[in-house]
Amino acid sequence: MSRWGMVIDLEKCTGCQACTTACQVENNRLPGENWQDVLFYAEGEYPSGKFSWLPRPCMHCENPSCREVCPTGATFKDKDGFVLVDWEKCIGCKYCMVACPYGVRFYAEEKQPVQPDIRSVFPGDGDKMWNPPWQMPEARRDPKHGVGIQPTNVVSKCTFCYHRVSKAPAGTVDLDPSNPALRDFVPACVVTCAPSARYFGDLDTPTSEVRRLIAEKRGTRLKEETGNRPQVYYLAGEQSSIPETRSTRIKS
Ligand code: SF4
Ligand code: SF4
Repeated sequence: MSRWGMVIDLEKCTGCQACTTACQVENNRLPGENWQDVLFYAEGEYPSGKFSWLPRPCMHCENPSCREVCPTGATFKDKDGFVLVDWEKCIGCKYCMVACPYGVRFYAEEKQPVQPDIRSVFPGDGDKMWNPPWQMPEARRDPKHGVGIQPTNVVSKCTFCYHRVSKAPAGTVDLDPSNPALRDFVPACVVTCAPSARYFGDLDTPTSEVRRLIAEKRGTRLKEETGNRPQVYYLAGEQSSIPETRSTRIKS
């Protein structure tokens, strides 16, 4: 048994969004509907304003409020710490979308952020909401864990790439993408991150790289006051919660 978690080093993250693109392709997301997003925002005003960004996957909370409100048991936490949605049980009521304090859940029937709606170009067959030109291999699809092309009328979210991580050799503690033997099991966003700002491993193993980084670099979690206890930690550096490498000055 593991408790998988992610560490994101904000001093290394350049805001390039390669993670977002990798996730979209890996998980057959609709254009503009990002399971993994990089949020951009302006802080302060001219002449001291800054433009900043924050990468934001699902937090795979230890105490997920999304699970608490799900009336059908479609949202569940598995033994290895993933928070997942069983698309065969989801009735699309959206309670979980309201309950999640991090805004990471999606209901694909909403108006698409990118027009024209790509579903009219690649219409879905069966219960699939669309028929993308590049598709996850059939063998990897797993609707009971929210993996594959999303069916209609269900809610979705980041799975921590359950279909990759859950196949890792038993006893693996650090899913290091630079190790060729493990690369296929590492979440797509972690594999793709060029500055290696993301780490993935077992939070329950004291010797894991994620545990070392959290301890040595004072890893922090978002919205601790909610009691959700995210399994995603951010490293923000010594000086400030907003590292300079994650901001650019707004120029006149
Ligand atoms: S971040 Fe939101 S969707 Fe993800 S586990 Fe936590 S409450 Fe649930
Ligand atoms: S939309 Fe689906 S996963 Fe979310 S609360 Fe309703 S049944 Fe559960």
